[in-house]
Amino acid sequence: MEDTSRETQFSNLDDIIQSCPKNTVIVNNIIKAYHKINSDIYKKIACAISGGADSDIMLDICHKCDDNNKINYVWCDTGLEYQATKDHLKYLEKKYDIEIKVNKAPKPIPIICHKYGQPFLSKAVSEYILRLQKHNFDFKDGTFDELITKYPNCKIALQWWCNEAGESSRFNIRQNKWLKEFMIANPPAFKISNKCCTYAKKDIMKKYLEENNIDLNITGIRKAEGGARAVAYKSCFDDNVDKYDNYRPLFWYKDSDKSEYEEKHGIIHSKCYSEYGLKRTGCAGCPFGRDFEQELEAIKKFEPKLFKAVNNIFGDSYEYTREYKKFCKEMDKKYGSYTAYLGGMTKINKEEDE
Ligand code: SF4
Repeated sequence: MEDTSRETQFSNLDDIIQSCPKNTVIVNNIIKAYHKINSDIYKKIACAISGGADSDIMLDICHKCDDNNKINYVWCDTGLEYQATKDHLKYLEKKYDIEIKVNKAPKPIPIICHKYGQPFLSKAVSEYILRLQKHNFDFKDGTFDELITKYPNCKIALQWWCNEAGESSRFNIRQNKWLKEFMIANPPAFKISNKCCTYAKKDIMKKYLEENNIDLNITGIRKAEGGARAVAYKSCFDDNVDKYDNYRPLFWYKDSDKSEYEEKHGIIHSKCYSEYGLKRTGCAGCPFGRDFEQELEAIKKFEPKLFKAVNNIFGDSYEYTREYKKFCKEMDKKYGSYTAYLGGMTKINKEEDE
């Protein structure tokens, strides 16, 4: 049943703390959030709402702490959003009696993917492949010296392709098992790129922050979520002297803290979680999602029009990912494991050098 009650704002920090679970992470976080948000240093604050579970908790914290209604809530519409997310945003507006400003991407994801290419596997992998494709790379094997002679302006991507970024570096293609072997056997016949993340998400929020003279930017990044976003930061706050400061209230929250907060404050998440059974929200059907097949099933069942759209936009990438996964299984069976295969290759190379 829809929750139609309005959330009341607290009048002081003690009341907020009293209302919270007796959990050090949560209480320390509330104290910090309260002081950041109500600090005189900040005249204009933005809080990026996604409609996801972490964002729901962040909004609840911000709303409780914002004594002077300084926070501007913003949602970036990438052009590939669940109806469930849009409905949830309406629910949040009503619950907290706030306006969530819609910041539309000037170029939505379908147009960006058509022009620059489809995301495949991860942001970093897509970036390297984009660079290689820009130079008409033929996805054949070769030493770095041979390839750099043939493609002189493609150094960074070739270092990745040739595993030349250092023994334990994550900027080597071998970080993704069998990917190089797969791409040599099956060079991509479509354009791959991570540009939709840059143009439909990152850039529009950056533009909003600058155009609106925002001095504090609040986002829902959690360290425990892992991934490139979370590892890029060391703490919940960084001050950017001449632009805006960044604050991540949920940075130290573990999953258990989230659950405790949700339970105590009766947080209701979007139908993407409660009905569709998804573990994440965000752009519908993004090929970066580890469980994209499961997500596609849910989209097909609950938002059939969106299912057609995501297949039109990301269809090549879905197919290529399926082929890659199949390839990994076959190669694991043939060689035992990728590590065993790499060990064998090192031995052969050593013998050839001698
Ligand atoms: S999350 Fe996926 S679909 Fe969304 S902008 Fe980034 S790459 Fe594109």
